[in-house]
Amino acid sequence: ALFGDARRNSRGVNMNILSEWLPLKDELDKWWDARWSGAPLVNGKRLQGEGRPVMCPYELSHQVGEVVWASADQTRSAIDSLSSAFVRWNATPVDERAAILERTADKLEEHMPELMALCTREAGKLLQDGIDEVREAVDFCRFYAMQARQRFATITLPGPTGESNELYLQGRGVFACISPWNFPLAIFLGQVSAALVCGNTVVAKPAEQTSLVAVRCVELMHEAGLPGDVLALLPGDGAQVGSVITSDPRIAGVAFTGSTQTAHVINRALAARNGAIAPLIAETGGQNAMIVDSTALPEQVVNDVVHSAFQSAGQRCSALRVLFVQEDIAERVIELLKGAMAELHVGDPARRDTDVGPVIDADARDGLLKHVREMKQAGRLIAETPVPEALNGHFVAPVAFRLDSINELSDEHFGPILHVVTWRARDLDKIIDDINATGFGLTLGVHTRNEDTAEHIDARVRIGNVYINRNQIGAVVGVQPFGGQGLSGTGPKAGGPHYLLRFVTERTRTINT
Ligand code: GLU
Repeated sequence: ALFGDARRNSRGVNMNILSEWLPLKDELDKWWDARWSGAPLVNGKRLQGEGRPVMCPYELSHQVGEVVWASADQTRSAIDSLSSAFVRWNATPVDERAAILERTADKLEEHMPELMALCTREAGKLLQDGIDEVREAVDFCRFYAMQARQRFATITLPGPTGESNELYLQGRGVFACISPWNFPLAIFLGQVSAALVCGNTVVAKPAEQTSLVAVRCVELMHEAGLPGDVLALLPGDGAQVGSVITSDPRIAGVAFTGSTQTAHVINRALAARNGAIAPLIAETGGQNAMIVDSTALPEQVVNDVVHSAFQSAGQRCSALRVLFVQEDIAERVIELLKGAMAELHVGDPARRDTDVGPVIDADARDGLLKHVREMKQAGRLIAETPVPEALNGHFVAPVAFRLDSINELSDEHFGPILHVVTWRARDLDKIIDDINATGFGLTLGVHTRNEDTAEHIDARVRIGNVYINRNQIGAVVGVQPFGGQGLSGTGPKAGGPHYLLRFVTERTRTINT
């Protein structure tokens, strides 16, 4: 197994090592055959309805549980109650709101085995990815709680005219959080905790594929003391629940992570309302590149390429899609890459020796396999990791293809598919221009031992997260604030010191004394 190495979290805690969870194996084992059930949670209560089966992406006959979707009417009436609860919640001291997030973090840690198992069963996450997922959710809660305590302090301004002047932050109103399936706990809770700690009430729509994780998370938030009426969780699809939310004139802002295409749909829906002009915080796709020059160390490059392209089955916005390797070392890098790909184990994500688990569902797999077929037909194959035949799930083999230019790709392929372009020294500026011309700007990897080259690239790219001489995934809360530009999103960066500022409005209070 190539993955599973240690990664310290923002507080230097070493709970990220899979082996440290071995004593918990029995606890984890208890959860593999559990059946979870989810439903819309409004005013702290479950709404009734017909449950839809939730199936496991890597054991297709295994039912993980069932979930009830919210209706359009339930969505509207949830927004009614959130609107009424706003004034009270917004007036609740920020310390109290922050303390609820901190207690939520404690609850998540207490329930780590269950949450890890659920992330594996519902989303097909590897055990290590499950650990990282819960850790990141915990980090978001604690980080935003800390940020809110600092940011919400009232600023006293000069009073040259004898008046007293103060500036402080407040919530905006009912905030909508629309989250993706690839980080069903961390990104879900990152959005929701940021919005809540700022004094907003929140309507949250999790991805259809991963509602059960979100339901467990909200239940734990209520156990941690979150009042029932300040957060409504509405599982459902974009056409039903999502569009009702984004066209409602009472929605004061939207935090969205998902595809660029859906971000455009949300942006248009918000603009078409006759309501408040609401901010959209969008974190969307990428066409992420890594530039490797001839001074780089091929062994290190390949290790970082394999992590960046294939960890989490390539289902990260940050994942590497196009490797640019300078011609002088291309042959060596490709040879090592073939060797490393042959070592990857594709299979059951609950096994410790698995490197690459399933993709999320049949649609995702079919879309990826279509691209794989087309690239193979065009004679572009470099290497493909074998997938054991006995597997019964939505698996896509890690694969690498040769490309002449990044321009040949029109879409993001959200899975374990890597493209490799070879470049000549004099073409460095051309490839930088090509990367910028994709319009995406999320992550970039750079491997060089030449500082001038690193600086040259860094100064010219329009990219949110640039990683030099390391892999380009796994941004840590408070350490690598994460988010892109252009087609990749609006900012502010999740897990960064400016994130909360988009969830608030400012109040200036002048008192004539
Ligand atoms: N923050 C994650 C990372 O750096 C990616 C988030 C996403 O895929 O949306 O790997």
